Amino acid sequence: MIADNLLTPNTPLRQPKLWMPEQVLFTPAAIAEPWGQQILARVQSLNLPIEELPRNRLTGLRGESERDTYDIAKRTLAVVTAPPSSFKLSPIPPSADWQFHLAEGCPAHCQYCYLAGSLQGPPVIRVFANLPQILENLAAYEKPGKPTTFEVSCYTDPLGIEHLTGSLAECIRYFGTRNDAHLRWVSKFDAVDELLNLPHNGHTRCRISVNAAPVSGRFEGGTASVPSRLMALRRLAPPPERGGGGYPVGLVIAPIMHIDDWEMHYGRLFDQISEALDFDCDLTFELISHRFTPGSKEVLQTWYPHSKLDMDEDKRSVKRNKFGGTKYVYDNDTMKTMKRFFEGEIGRRFPNAKILYWT
Ligand code: SF4
Repeated sequence: MIADNLLTPNTPLRQPKLWMPEQVLFTPAAIAEPWGQQILARVQSLNLPIEELPRNRLTGLRGESERDTYDIAKRTLAVVTAPPSSFKLSPIPPSADWQFHLAEGCPAHCQYCYLAGSLQGPPVIRVFANLPQILENLAAYEKPGKPTTFEVSCYTDPLGIEHLTGSLAECIRYFGTRNDAHLRWVSKFDAVDELLNLPHNGHTRCRISVNAAPVSGRFEGGTASVPSRLMALRRLAPPPERGGGGYPVGLVIAPIMHIDDWEMHYGRLFDQISEALDFDCDLTFELISHRFTPGSKEVLQTWYPHSKLDMDEDKRSVKRNKFGGTKYVYDNDTMKTMKRFFEGEIGRRFPNAKILYWT
């Protein structure tokens, strides 16, 4: 349920959730970049402790245990330059044609985090000071005549660090100038004020990730609340003449978990979504069921040793990919039942919305 009718148009806005790092590190290469200087001005204006490193390497971030290392890393923003390897893009089906990165690492503390096992080393939030070069590189991947889609939230939550970087707004402005390229981002944060008046030209789809209350309440530390995220979407979607951002928008419901009373809890989530988006808009849904790999489970258990997250392999089916990797997913019958429920709710409540995929 939405507390105190939070989503009515007359409700005063809450302060958005803003992560403030305890230390900000700059490499010499990052500080030499004009975009690095822009980030420096932002963190100086927030009075955050800044250190200029002697070399282009991050060191001294390990604690006495893995959990200490996690704590230090998650309180650290490092401004670095993206390595040459990141200029060779990878495809990212089914979300988009290509992925690129404005940062790696995320300030939130989701106990099922998708980044566990994908990024190496301590989970420091590294933001890239050579953003103009990163954007310039994308044109080579466009195909004229058909919009090519680019996902920018595979390795970070771009809105969660936007007050410190301004990089998401820069991406949105850039894609607004392209004829054949569209941007997609997703977040569990809610500070969208700076995005509302950008010249996006309808080329950016803003998505918010949401979940049922028992999942978001128990497992999504450090994020904005689900009602606040939905309020953010309610502001991004309406056209500018109605005070909104005029963006195409989307909801990513992930990870969908087969918890006790799941139909009731996800039904309530749909009530909240219906209340937040009680107007016509260009809306998509992406539906992702919970899964884990042996590697992600191992990392998550060191980051969150007391987590109640269900990662019991015996209750799951094994899915193998073409590279021999293993992941644990819900069994076929459970998947089918949940898929039917989600598609039914969306079809009934949002007949004009498009479901992009269930996985
Ligand atoms: S918001 Fe996404 S990237 Fe950040 S901690 Fe949560 S799952 Fe991980």
